Amino acid sequence: MVFKIFKKKNEEAFPLPNRVSYEKEELFCCGFDASSMQGAPSAVVKPVSTDEVVQVLRFANQQRTPVVPRGAGTGMTGGAVPVNDAIVLSLDGMNNILEIDEKNMIAIVEPGVINGHLQEKLEDRGLFYPPDPASMNFCTLGGNVAENAGGPRAIKYGVTRDYVLGFEVVLPDGRVLTTGGKNYKDVVGYDLTRLIVGSEGTLCVVTKIFLKVLPLPAETMTLLCTYSQINDAALTVSKITSSGIVPRALEFMDNGSIRAVESYREFGLPTDAEALLLIEVDGSRASVSEEADKIASACISQNGRVSVADDMFAKQRIWEARRAISPALYRIKPTKINEDIVVPRGRIPEMLQALKGISEKYDLKIVNFGHAGDGNIHVNIMTDKNNKDEYQRARTAVEDIFRVTLRLEGTISGEHGVGLTKKQYIGMELSETNLEIMKAIKKVFDPNGIMNPGKIFPLD
Ligand SMILES: Cc1cc2nc3c(=O)[nH]c(=O)nc-3n(C[C@H](O)[C@H](O)[C@H](O)COP(=O)(O)OP(=O)(O)OC[C@H]3O[C@@H](n4cnc5c(N)ncnc54)[C@H](O)[C@@H]3O)c2cc1C
Repeated sequence: MVFKIFKKKNEEAFPLPNRVSYEKEELFCCGFDASSMQGAPSAVVKPVSTDEVVQVLRFANQQRTPVVPRGAGTGMTGGAVPVNDAIVLSLDGMNNILEIDEKNMIAIVEPGVINGHLQEKLEDRGLFYPPDPASMNFCTLGGNVAENAGGPRAIKYGVTRDYVLGFEVVLPDGRVLTTGGKNYKDVVGYDLTRLIVGSEGTLCVVTKIFLKVLPLPAETMTLLCTYSQINDAALTVSKITSSGIVPRALEFMDNGSIRAVESYREFGLPTDAEALLLIEVDGSRASVSEEADKIASACISQNGRVSVADDMFAKQRIWEARRAISPALYRIKPTKINEDIVVPRGRIPEMLQALKGISEKYDLKIVNFGHAGDGNIHVNIMTDKNNKDEYQRARTAVEDIFRVTLRLEGTISGEHGVGLTKKQYIGMELSETNLEIMKAIKKVFDPNGIMNPGKIFPLD
């Protein structure tokens, strides 16, 4: 596919002259995401309605100009990074909560709504939208559905996919497609809603999202359990998950992440601990205290030291510390290679052991944290891109990490997607047949290949 470069000279023909920018600063700001990859878009367009998205896509399709949908640019795998001089379609102006339907427990939103903003609005009404990526205060719901984002609460409540009831999307040729809607059950035809979730902006542009919401749990209790042996923390995870209790969060931090966070800001975490688990339960007052007691016993029996966050302030501080890990890691080294592998929960001890071995083999600092309750470990190789030798060792270590992950029956990405950074590894996990079917689906949606090209699939 040869793409035509969209240039300023197209300005006169472009259907939305007041929505397009060619300013250097704007092009720069829409050229990267949290993967630290940088691209150079030829224009940035900021539509404010579905009709405007239709006009942009119709034009781009006729011109064979690539289009990259963009939310807040917090993606970890380069999904929103433009390649081939694409137009960036920034959806942050479509940021209305269109409806909160309490009777039917549904929220209808535009894609540019910030996740945390919806959470606040719902909580005011006693409602609850569980998916809570650590970036919830700045990522968009459009980006969440495109990546099928998860978060600490996924262990009990599932991921974004489990809350999407339907979509309005614009196809690359400008047709508007509606899938699903307000119904909690719907099995008429193929499940296009589920297909679009996690499609990383490669099939269509999401312009409206129908979300299921829940009643806000009456009580929550937050426990912090620290360990002097990392293996004890890992063994506690399986102890809790096989105990019949489903906590609403079961997060893991190793010593490297504890120290990084504490040097970033003093949260009061014990820097001498080899690992900690951050555990939260929710439900009625009675069930919460019963479950917290059982979990505390499980932690203590595995040599953990337990403390309970006794007020809202203490809870918030612990969660702020957890959400600060990603930015705090840059205190260690300027470049972070962040992988989000998943293994069956019972295999976390083996995985952590293997990571230690890989760190020693390649003489690299590897910091691990993540959603241990889902087996989802964020593996961060801390390096410096300018140190060629070390960076090369880090890239080789990534392959070793993926090989071990797959040997332990895991997956190379639990929530960050493939984008640009993982596409060269996708064949390690998916068979040729899988890839053929996926590419054929892409062709049906996007025969001219204008939607977010260069993502997910390695070049043929
Ligand atoms: C500090 C930090 C913590 C994070 N923690 C988590 C976490 O706990 N769990 C987790 O899952 N992720 C996490 N992430 C990753 C990231 O926040 C999520 O992937 C998020 O869903 C991306 O949303 P965004 O609005 O920034 O999307 P962007 O990065 O802008 O885009 C992501 C992808 O979605 C596509 N896209 C965006 N909007 C649309 C649309 N309207 N239609 C079609 N495609 C679209 C883009 O093309 C791109 O492929 C974290 C990131 C950071 C920086």
